[in-house]
Amino acid sequence: MDKLIVTVAPTGNVPTRKTNPYLPVTPEEIAEDLYRCYKAGASVAHIHARDEQGKPSADPDLFQAITELIREKCDIIIQLSTGARAGKSADERSACIALKPEMASLSTGSTNFARSVNYNPPALIKELAGRMENHGVKPEIEVFDLSALEYAIYLVEKKILKGPMHINLVLGVPGSISGSPRNLFFLVESLPAGCTWSVTSIGSSHRQLSALALILGGHVRTGLEDVLELEAGKPASNLKLVERIVALARFYGREPATPAEARSILGLPALF
Ligand code: ZN
Repeated sequence: MDKLIVTVAPTGNVPTRKTNPYLPVTPEEIAEDLYRCYKAGASVAHIHARDEQGKPSADPDLFQAITELIREKCDIIIQLSTGARAGKSADERSACIALKPEMASLSTGSTNFARSVNYNPPALIKELAGRMENHGVKPEIEVFDLSALEYAIYLVEKKILKGPMHINLVLGVPGSISGSPRNLFFLVESLPAGCTWSVTSIGSSHRQLSALALILGGHVRTGLEDVLELEAGKPASNLKLVERIVALARFYGREPATPAEARSILGLPALF
């Protein structure tokens, strides 16, 4: 089996210091935390930005600051979020794409979050996909339900997206597909040939579905965006979550990929 790409999502849009004391929020904190995760085996960083009040922000200056601070420290693959919580318009959500990160997230369908709409209408998806293509940014296709996976396959057929895709299966978000082994098998069986794929399992299903993903040959995302506790009552940190996935992967015979190895697996050009 391929080496395992461990993606870390250190901050997200929802957690606060009240829900987890180890959450990195400022660009400096995010870069420091990601460097620790990189040394522990993470090779991709999925990044959200927060403003000075700690609220989700799509401000490209913040993404730029985070990117520069990370690059002073290490070559971890930088993936910026274009998710629905930080902005509404295509211009807001795609502002970070002009920074030409190596990757950006692209949700290919609408579902619900716990308290809001995961709003991704077709025109917006096509607009974001086009801007990523123009700036040489590889999308990570975010799939919150089977329909989003089928729509991504359709967009490749229509040459709006390029294959082979990198697809992140997101399970366990209230309002989207729930985090059960049956649902994971169902999504994995529906993947297109030749793609690379990872699993993001939110909350209580995180450990079980992360283990299944790496046994099945997929890659794994972890981090405080996805799970706040190591076990009930014990707050997680990004480093502890990455260490736990790396230990689990080694138990099943998969070494973590370095960023250079992850670039090769994902079809990204070398950094230098
Ligand atoms: Zn995210």
